[in-house]
Amino acid sequence: MNRAPVNKIIASSVVDGPGNRTAVFFQSCNFNCRYCHNPETINMCVNCGKCVETCPADALQIHDGRVVWDSEKCVQCDTCIKTCENNASPKIRYMNAEEIWQQIEPNLPFIRGITVSGGECTLQAEVVRELFTLAKQHGLTTLLDSNGSYDFRAHPELLEVSDGVMLDVKADNDERHRWLTGQSIERVLDNLEYLASIDKLEEIRTVCIPEVLENEETIRVAGRILKPYLERKAIRYKLIKFRHFGVRQQYRSYPEPTEEYMNSLKQLAEEQGFGNIVII
Ligand code: SF4
Ligand code: SF4
Repeated sequence: MNRAPVNKIIASSVVDGPGNRTAVFFQSCNFNCRYCHNPETINMCVNCGKCVETCPADALQIHDGRVVWDSEKCVQCDTCIKTCENNASPKIRYMNAEEIWQQIEPNLPFIRGITVSGGECTLQAEVVRELFTLAKQHGLTTLLDSNGSYDFRAHPELLEVSDGVMLDVKADNDERHRWLTGQSIERVLDNLEYLASIDKLEEIRTVCIPEVLENEETIRVAGRILKPYLERKAIRYKLIKFRHFGVRQQYRSYPEPTEEYMNSLKQLAEEQGFGNIVII
């Protein structure tokens, strides 16, 4: 069975899709968003060993040139995360779908489904597909939380076991998307239209930063692309307030939006035809 780097598994979450869900967070992302609030999930550890020296609980060791994390000793102080200059974490477990499922199974009486996130979960598409197949056999719903870089058109096998995608729409054009994430917007917008057309678009999300991002234009672009589909389904639009918490020091000077500003964006989204808008 394939293995994937798992950053953490949250047994019960009410913020990662509808209802109570177990959320699986995979390590590593192919975007490098300036506003990322968990940048320690972006890269894989390069085993430099710096965090080993700072761990107060002796929970990190170097064995054969690799950092090994002892979850029993770890006191979750996150000193290692603060030490790492590589946007990585030493607290990673390589797990196959069966091993991840064993962590989820005890939650079955309490959850409606599972959501995979990250990092970018589609970088681990094969493990996710195997995990979702197991989840479906037990009657759970399955959602992907994705940055939209995955070629969903070319890989229908992942969507066959997924109930939907929660898709980030981070910017309005390629230049601003590249500035914000380091990657092109082309595939994201293609997926936006494609997922809506096959009724696999669970929700879209935009992180809003006044003066820094053209949030209004992003909402207009999303509205324009989704216009043919919004009449038959009220696709949820989550407008997310940028917050400084967890963001890297060099990006913390970006302004946080006011309630008034967020409400003006909500009104704009309504004008574009969105009927299910949530500000968080
Ligand atoms: S987590 Fe970061 S600091 Fe620790 S060994 Fe890996 S790259 Fe180095
Ligand atoms: S969170 Fe990191 S630094 Fe803190 S005890 Fe665990 S491994 Fe050590």
